[in-house]
Amino acid sequence: MCVMCRQDAETARHMVGQCPFAVEIYRRIDMATEMRTQPIDAILRLEHNKKARGTLLVTMFVIWRERCTRIFRDTDKTHEQLIEEVAQLLHRRSDPAGEF
Ligand SMILES: [Zn+2]
Repeated sequence: MCVMCRQDAETARHMVGQCPFAVEIYRRIDMATEMRTQPIDAILRLEHNKKARGTLLVTMFVIWRERCTRIFRDTDKTHEQLIEEVAQLLHRRSDPAGEF
């Protein structure tokens, strides 16, 4: 069972592209359209749009990390908290003084 939405089986495809919890995060940061295909296709399609591709990869990472945290630490973050984490990671990445 998916620990993010608690509605469906936890498959890789569900986790990154179909989970309603994840889809809401993609929607709020305007990446939902990219996730209508297989995740690898979405990443490849954005090959020449490095900013969008970076945003998508960081979003997928934050969703995956939240999935692991829910399982191993038994804590849940909200959509808002995860979107803030995406923003912080993207900001750090673009900051040459940042550690990311
Ligand atoms: Zn789910």
